[in-house]
Amino acid sequence: MPDIFTVGERCPLGCLAVILVKRTTDQKVFAWCGTCGLAWAEPAAETWQLGDHGAAELHAAIIANGSMIELASWKDIKKAGLEHIARPAEPFEDWPEYLIRRYNDTYGLQSG
Ligand SMILES: [Zn+2]
Repeated sequence: MPDIFTVGERCPLGCLAVILVKRTTDQKVFAWCGTCGLAWAEPAAETWQLGDHGAAELHAAIIANGSMIELASWKDIKKAGLEHIARPAEPFEDWPEYLIRRYNDTYGLQSG
C-alpha cells in the first residue's frame, strides 16, 4: 500500500482527513477532502482550522483541470515544498485510495 499523507487535523467542514493528491499530468500537489469534495491548490497557505475554508475550491475538478489524480508521494510532497505540513496517515486507512478511484472514474475519463 502506498504511503498516504494528510494535512491538518481534518477538513475545515469537519469531515475526515484532507489528503495530499497530485495531478498526473504535471505532478502538481494539492489538498483534497474526498468526503465533501473541497480542494486547496496551495495547502501551505491555509490555516487548517475548523471553520476556516481559506481559498478552497468547491470541487477538486477545478484544480485537477481534467487530469487524473493520485496519491502524492513523499517525493512529490518534498518537491512541492509541503513536507512541513504533510503528515503520514495511518497505514490501515484505505479510504483515500477508494475515493481517488471513484474520482478518476467519474471525472478523469477524458485524460486517458
Ligand atoms: Zn470536507
